Amino acid sequence: MLNQYPFELIKLPYAVGDLEPVIDKQTVEIHYGKHHQAYVDNLNKLLAEKPELQGKTLEELMNSEVPAIKNNAGGVWNHDFYWQEMEKPGEEMLPENLKEKIEKKFGSMDEFIKLFEANALGRFGSGWGWLVKDEKGELEIMSTANQDNPLSLGKKPLLGIDVWEHAYYLKYQNRRAEYVKTWWQLVNWAWVAER
Ligand code: MN
Repeated sequence: MLNQYPFELIKLPYAVGDLEPVIDKQTVEIHYGKHHQAYVDNLNKLLAEKPELQGKTLEELMNSEVPAIKNNAGGVWNHDFYWQEMEKPGEEMLPENLKEKIEKKFGSMDEFIKLFEANALGRFGSGWGWLVKDEKGELEIMSTANQDNPLSLGKKPLLGIDVWEHAYYLKYQNRRAEYVKTWWQLVNWAWVAER
């Protein structure tokens, strides 16, 4: 897919109901088909009026000084990432090289999971929790507000959880912790390790 205007909604690598029971079909239909689609449409609408920006990549647009462009470009990038890092529940297998790196940095897988969850729960309001590779190549856990992205801070996202209410509210209502805890079943670790 071309990484410039006009942007398109990515194809899901699975069917909308495939993330059940962790994420219900209706949530995927709305999150992907309405919210994600809206970021794509809004970004294209904004760029239609700015021919000078039409050759820019999504990553470049995420650093735009125009807030609406920055937010919608981030929305597209973050959701492209989110859908791709997941797979049907029960297929997860953690590659040894990534497991070793996580254990070296955080002590154990359990400790990493605990920190990642606490970080995702600690994001006040809407945003994302991330595992990133920092400027020095070290693993780091961080969060961003709204549709901001670690790339804008020079850090490469490896894993990211959407903690906007639209990501979980239909099934989990206010129980973000339960969504975050259950979400691990969907992580496509091979895809994460590849990054
Ligand atoms: Mn979202």
